[in-house]
Formats: sequence, structure tokens, C-alpha cells
Amino acid sequence: MTSVDIKHFPMRIGGREVDTERRRNVVDPSTGETVATVAHGDAGHVDAAVSAARAAFDSGVWRHRTPQERAAVMRRIVAAANDVADELIELELSANGATVRQATGFHIGYALAHFSYFADLAETYAWQRPAPITTFPALGQAVVHREPIGVVGAIAPWNFPLLLTLWKVGPALAAGNSVVVKPDEHTPLSILAFARIAEENGLPPGVLNVVPGDGPDAGARLASHPDVGKIAFTGSTAVGREIMRLAAGTVKQVTLELGGKGPSIVLDDADLDLAVDGVLYGCFVYSGQVCESGTRALVPAHLYDDFVGRLVTRASTIALGPTRDWDTDMGPVIDAHQQARIVDYIHGAVAEGAAVALGGQAIDQPGYWVTPTILTGVHNSMRIAQEEVFGPVLVVIAYSDDDEAVSIANDSDYGLAASIWSSDNSRSLDLAARIDSGSVWINDAHQINCQVPFGGFKQSGVGRELGPDALDAYTEVKTVHLDLSGGRDSKPYDILLSHADE
Ligand code: NAD
Repeated sequence: MTSVDIKHFPMRIGGREVDTERRRNVVDPSTGETVATVAHGDAGHVDAAVSAARAAFDSGVWRHRTPQERAAVMRRIVAAANDVADELIELELSANGATVRQATGFHIGYALAHFSYFADLAETYAWQRPAPITTFPALGQAVVHREPIGVVGAIAPWNFPLLLTLWKVGPALAAGNSVVVKPDEHTPLSILAFARIAEENGLPPGVLNVVPGDGPDAGARLASHPDVGKIAFTGSTAVGREIMRLAAGTVKQVTLELGGKGPSIVLDDADLDLAVDGVLYGCFVYSGQVCESGTRALVPAHLYDDFVGRLVTRASTIALGPTRDWDTDMGPVIDAHQQARIVDYIHGAVAEGAAVALGGQAIDQPGYWVTPTILTGVHNSMRIAQEEVFGPVLVVIAYSDDDEAVSIANDSDYGLAASIWSSDNSRSLDLAARIDSGSVWINDAHQINCQVPFGGFKQSGVGRELGPDALDAYTEVKTVHLDLSGGRDSKPYDILLSHADE
């Protein structure tokens, strides 16, 4: 696979390419080199995109198609995107630094498969549901309708740019909404390419608009725009709070997928070979830049030294290298700021009493690299155990019994995902019931399955994405009541008005 030539990407508004004088460089984190430039939109471009989305919605060109017709277009888009999957993989990894293995399997592979799942949901969703016939106070029947909301705003992060955007665009389109996407500043390429493919394959102009730009400018305008009925956001908890505040002005529906500090709980009866690989996989995939990563390994005190030794031996084999090389296991982190921040966290942990068992440094070479890092002697009250580092840093915390493991696992502002490693299913299920977390994976990690809901407890978010009910969050509920009594007599209007005959 070759690297992309430096190409310019305009934004997409109303089915057209829209350019700006302001451009932003898109940088390959593995080399530090500019791979593309992108039009840099602002609040005015968001206004134009929302107008285009509203006009498309009001025209009925998408929402008035049958769910089967919408599903057919969505499937055509997936087929066309699959035909150029290599191009999408290159656009994704050249901007976010994923390895080609990760970008192929997760970043693009999951994105297209999940979009396809939302097409299936459009066909099976209960768009109308009859309520039971009522006889009191008068004979009647209601039908509960699910209708599109209107214009949906989607604000995405850089770690899984296409996947996490399509988790919002997919159900929004399946339900008949129009969408305006504000991608992250680092990673606008794959969703811009996807929007072009979508329009070339039957999505009407204005239904999907993409405006790259700064969060506090373009993003904030989208989150507060009076004509946006719902805002779906994935990103940091700090920005999630701001989105909620901005959306409150016009009481928008909101879904938030935010940060995590996932515990990987190793029980004393675990298959240790599986647990070691599973804990490392849970933490270091995509250089630890996954919201649901297991970044805190909780290990029984009597197994601690043995387990740390095994972790270090196995993690030492993780090969860093060119992201397009199929032999590379782990790539860079997203940018210089994040690289420095991760190293600061490691230094801070050492200052608080942690020891570096593996790694612990930035690598002095082009691009933004940090070695896989394992920290021991960590207590859950330390900053490194409480705050989201978003880098390849695993902390190992000792516990004495299952109760203490649960209490450490839950001692966090976050509650996105947890894993339990054990050979005893009953014990694991008992523990899973006690963990405050949106997902609990037993003897596995990163189990992102489009058929089950994903999202967080506590400050990890509001609402859920994926799963059979994913369209609920992109629809309004309308109850239509039809009177079947056929007359005035059985109605309770006498509460206000005397009967005309009296
Ligand atoms: P971020 O919050 O800095 O940015 C996310 C998006 O919000 C970007 O598009 C950004 O431009 C925009 N934004 C920033 N400030 C804004 C504002 N004031 N108003 C509107 N939009 C604004 O997050 P990030 O650094 O891109 O991503 C990393 C974070 O995302 C981590 O905390 C991670 O845990 C979280 N994340 C969560 C999930 C999940 O599903 N729960 C998935 C991936 C990432």
C-alpha cells in the first residue's frame, strides 16, 4: 500500500464540495508528515450545512422513502465503500496512526459492517406499534409512531473516526433524518470520502453533510444550533459536559459516549496465559487510545509478581514500526501534545511512588511514539489510576479478595467497560453483576458487537449506541389516539361541560 499524495479535501455541504481559504494540514502521526490538506470550516459553514440538511429533510426526499428503500440505498453505499476499502484504510491510518491490521479489522472493517447492521435495523424496526384498545374513559385505540427527529448533529473524535461517526450517521439515516457531521480536526478524511461515496450511490444531496473545523467554533455551533434536534457526541468527558450545556439551550436530545478507565480484573483461578494476553490486548490495541481500554489491571496480591513478570515478557514482544507494515503490532500516538501528556502522566505516577516495569518513554524518532508502558506499585487513588491517559500505559494494582477487587474497579468517575479473567463462570457472573460499567467482558476484551448496546455508566456517558434499539435515540415518539366510541355519551366531558340535553 502506498502513502497518499498530498491532496486537498473540501467539505461537503448540500451535495456539493465547498472550499475555504483556511486550510488545515492532516498529519500522519507515524511520520509527522503532512499527508493532505482539508478545508477548515467555521460556525458559518455549520449554519449552511444545517440549512441544507433541513431543506433536504423538509423536502421529504429521504425521510419519505420507505424503510426498505432507505436500507437498499445504505447497502449500496456499503458495497461501494467495500470496493474502495483499501483507499478508506489508507485515509484512516494516514491520519490517525492505526496499524494496517487495526485499520483493516476495526477502523474500516467494523465501520462498514456496522453501517450495514443499521440498514438491517431500518427494515425490522417497529415504526408503528399499536397500543391495546382501551375502553376507559371511552373506547379508543392509540398507535405509537416513531418518526425522524429532523437534523442530527454528530461530533466525532480522532481515534475511530469513521466507525464512531457511522455509529451516529447509520441509525440517523436509517430513521430518515438528515445529518451534519463535525469530524475531529485530526481525522476528517475518511468521513469526507464516505459522504462522497454515499452521494454517488443514491443518498440525496443535503442528507449527509460534513464540516471539518475546530471544536469550540464549528463543533460548539452545531451543538447549540436551534435547528438541530439531536446531538450525538463521542469524545472526552470534559467536552461532553460542554456539549450537554450547549444542547440545553434548545433542549436537544443528546447521546454522549465519553471516557473510561477500565478495570481488567484477573481472578486467582484465571487461565494466566489467556489473561496475560487478554489484559495486554485490552490495553495496548491502537496504542491504548480506545475509550473502553482496560487500563487498570487488578491482580491478586499473591500472584502479583508472577503476573507482572509474565506481562512484561509478553509486552516486550510488541513490535512498533511502520503503520503500513503488516508485521507491526503497535503504532504511534495521535500527536506531539498527546505524546508529551502521556509522558507527563508516567513521570507523575513515578513521583507518586509507582515503578516502571516496562517502557516509560517517548521514542526519539519522526512521528509521535511512546513505548508500551507497564507501571507497578500503583494504588487506585493515584492520578494515573483515576484519570484517562489515552496512551499505551497499563497500571497494575494488587487486591486481596473479590470484594476489594469490586471496590477498586468501581472506585472511578468512569464506568464504560470492564473485563474479568477467570475459569469460574458463576463467580465471574456474580462479579459482573457488581461492576458499575456499561459493558463487562468475561475472558475477553474489546468485544464491540454491533448487535448489543454500547455506552457508559457514570461520567462515561449518556445513552447507548448500537444494539437492536439503536434507532430509538434518533427518533421522536408520537402517540396518535383514535376515538372508537362513536359519540358524545361515553366521554368524560361532563367534568367540564354539562351534557347538552340536561
Ligand atoms: P475531544 O473531546 O477533545 O474531541 C472530540 C470532538 O469534540 C472533536 O471533534 C472536537 O473537535 C470536538 N470538540 C472539542 N471541543 C468542543 C466544543 N467546545 N464544542 C463542541 N465540540 C468540541 O476528544 P478526543 O481527544 O478527540 O478523543 C478522545 C476522548 O474521546 C477520550 O476521552 C476517549 O475516551 C473518548 N472516546 C470515547 C468513546 C466512547 O465511545 N465512549 C470512544 C472514543 C473516544
